[in-house]
Amino acid sequence: MNCELFELELKENGLKVTKARRVILECLKESANPLAAESLFLAMKEKDCKSNLSTVYRTLESLEEAGLVTKLDLMEEKKMYEYSGIGHRHYLICLSCKKMIAIAHCPLHEYEKKLEKDTEFAITGHKLYLYGYCKECASLI
Ligand SMILES: [Zn+2]
Ligand SMILES: [Zn+2]
Repeated sequence: MNCELFELELKENGLKVTKARRVILECLKESANPLAAESLFLAMKEKDCKSNLSTVYRTLESLEEAGLVTKLDLMEEKKMYEYSGIGHRHYLICLSCKKMIAIAHCPLHEYEKKLEKDTEFAITGHKLYLYGYCKECASLI
Protein backbone atom coordinates (compact mmCIF):
# COMPACT_ATOMS: atom_id res chain seq x y z
CA MET A 1 0.00 0.00 0.00
CA ASN A 2 1.23 3.43 -0.96
CA CYS A 3 2.17 5.82 1.88
CA GLU A 4 1.13 8.84 -0.16
CA LEU A 5 -2.40 7.55 -0.40
CA PHE A 6 -2.74 7.55 3.38
CA GLU A 7 -1.24 11.00 3.61
CA LEU A 8 -3.71 12.27 1.05
CA GLU A 9 -6.56 10.62 2.91
CA LEU A 10 -5.48 12.27 6.18
CA LYS A 11 -5.17 15.68 4.57
CA GLU A 12 -8.50 15.37 2.80
CA ASN A 13 -10.11 14.71 6.16
CA GLY A 14 -8.51 17.72 7.78
CA LEU A 15 -5.87 15.85 9.77
CA LYS A 16 -2.21 16.62 9.98
CA VAL A 17 -0.05 13.78 8.73
CA THR A 18 1.78 12.07 11.56
CA LYS A 19 3.63 8.81 11.39
CA ALA A 20 1.32 7.23 13.99
CA ARG A 21 -1.80 8.18 12.00
CA ARG A 22 -0.36 6.94 8.74
CA VAL A 23 0.85 3.65 10.19
CA ILE A 24 -2.40 2.97 12.06
CA LEU A 25 -4.40 3.49 8.88
CA GLU A 26 -2.00 1.20 7.05
CA CYS A 27 -2.28 -1.54 9.71
CA LEU A 28 -6.07 -1.36 9.81
CA LYS A 29 -6.35 -1.46 6.05
CA GLU A 30 -4.08 -4.48 5.85
CA SER A 31 -5.85 -6.40 8.55
CA ALA A 32 -8.58 -8.82 7.54
CA ASN A 33 -10.23 -8.39 10.95
CA PRO A 34 -10.88 -5.47 13.30
CA LEU A 35 -8.01 -4.81 15.71
CA ALA A 36 -7.83 -3.80 19.35
CA ALA A 37 -5.53 -0.93 20.35
CA GLU A 38 -3.10 -3.41 21.95
CA SER A 39 -2.77 -5.39 18.70
CA LEU A 40 -2.34 -2.18 16.74
CA PHE A 41 0.42 -1.14 19.08
CA LEU A 42 2.26 -4.40 18.29
CA ALA A 43 1.58 -4.14 14.56
CA MET A 44 2.98 -0.60 14.58
CA LYS A 45 6.14 -1.79 16.28
CA GLU A 46 6.69 -4.22 13.42
CA LYS A 47 6.52 -1.30 11.03
CA ASP A 48 9.20 0.52 13.01
CA CYS A 49 6.73 2.98 14.44
CA LYS A 50 7.50 3.05 18.13
CA SER A 51 4.63 4.40 20.11
CA ASN A 52 2.84 3.89 23.39
CA LEU A 53 -0.67 2.78 24.14
CA SER A 54 -1.96 6.21 25.10
CA THR A 55 -0.71 7.64 21.79
CA VAL A 56 -2.41 4.77 19.98
CA TYR A 57 -5.70 5.55 21.74
CA ARG A 58 -5.36 9.27 21.07
CA THR A 59 -4.52 8.68 17.42
CA LEU A 60 -7.45 6.30 17.02
CA GLU A 61 -9.73 8.91 18.54
CA SER A 62 -8.66 11.56 16.04
CA LEU A 63 -9.02 9.12 13.14
CA GLU A 64 -12.45 8.15 14.39
CA GLU A 65 -13.54 11.78 14.63
CA ALA A 66 -12.39 12.32 11.06
CA GLY A 67 -14.46 9.33 9.97
CA LEU A 68 -11.50 7.30 8.78
CA VAL A 69 -11.74 4.65 11.48
CA THR A 70 -14.81 3.00 12.97
CA LYS A 71 -14.89 1.92 16.60
CA LEU A 72 -16.77 -1.29 17.24
CA ASP A 73 -17.63 -1.22 20.92
CA LEU A 74 -19.64 -4.38 21.20
CA MET A 75 -17.62 -5.50 24.16
CA GLU A 76 -17.33 -3.10 27.05
CA GLU A 77 -13.88 -4.26 28.00
CA LYS A 78 -12.36 -4.45 24.54
CA LYS A 79 -12.98 -1.93 21.79
CA MET A 80 -12.03 -2.95 18.28
CA TYR A 81 -11.22 -0.66 15.41
CA GLU A 82 -11.46 -1.00 11.66
CA TYR A 83 -10.79 1.10 8.61
CA SER A 84 -14.03 2.88 7.70
CA GLY A 85 -13.71 2.40 3.96
CA ILE A 86 -13.74 -1.35 4.35
CA GLY A 87 -17.43 -1.64 3.49
CA HIS A 88 -20.38 -3.62 4.78
CA ARG A 89 -19.32 -6.54 6.96
CA HIS A 90 -20.54 -8.92 9.62
CA TYR A 91 -18.63 -10.43 12.50
CA LEU A 92 -18.06 -13.58 14.46
CA ILE A 93 -17.21 -12.67 18.04
CA CYS A 94 -15.39 -15.04 20.37
CA LEU A 95 -16.85 -14.81 23.87
CA SER A 96 -13.66 -16.14 25.39
CA CYS A 97 -10.72 -14.28 23.78
CA LYS A 98 -12.91 -11.43 22.35
CA LYS A 99 -11.47 -11.90 18.90
CA MET A 100 -13.62 -10.52 16.05
CA ILE A 101 -13.54 -12.26 12.72
CA ALA A 102 -14.99 -10.40 9.75
CA ILE A 103 -17.33 -12.08 7.31
CA ALA A 104 -17.28 -10.25 4.01
CA HIS A 105 -20.33 -12.01 2.61
CA CYS A 106 -23.69 -10.54 3.62
CA PRO A 107 -26.48 -13.12 3.60
CA LEU A 108 -29.22 -10.60 4.33
CA HIS A 109 -29.71 -8.60 1.16
CA GLU A 110 -32.24 -11.02 -0.32
CA TYR A 111 -34.03 -11.32 3.01
CA GLU A 112 -34.22 -7.53 3.26
CA LYS A 113 -35.94 -7.32 -0.10
CA LYS A 114 -38.46 -9.95 0.91
CA LEU A 115 -39.10 -8.24 4.26
CA GLU A 116 -39.62 -4.88 2.59
CA LYS A 117 -42.18 -6.43 0.29
CA ASP A 118 -43.94 -8.29 3.09
CA THR A 119 -43.99 -5.47 5.62
CA GLU A 120 -43.82 -2.34 3.41
CA PHE A 121 -41.08 -1.18 5.75
CA ALA A 122 -38.29 0.78 4.06
CA ILE A 123 -35.18 -0.93 5.40
CA THR A 124 -32.10 1.30 5.44
CA GLY A 125 -29.56 -1.04 6.97
CA HIS A 126 -28.83 -3.83 9.40
CA LYS A 127 -26.22 -5.16 11.77
CA LEU A 128 -25.46 -8.79 12.41
CA TYR A 129 -23.09 -10.28 14.94
CA LEU A 130 -22.63 -13.95 15.70
CA TYR A 131 -21.31 -14.95 19.11
CA GLY A 132 -19.53 -18.13 20.09
CA TYR A 133 -16.05 -19.58 20.47
CA CYS A 134 -13.19 -19.48 18.00
CA LYS A 135 -11.33 -22.64 17.06
CA GLU A 136 -8.54 -22.06 19.62
CA CYS A 137 -10.93 -21.32 22.48
CA ALA A 138 -13.37 -24.09 21.60
CA SER A 139 -10.56 -26.63 21.92
CA LEU A 140 -9.93 -25.49 25.50
CA ILE A 141 -13.52 -25.94 26.67
ZN1 LIG B 1 -11.36 -17.20 21.06
ZN1 LIG C 1 -25.22 -7.42 5.88
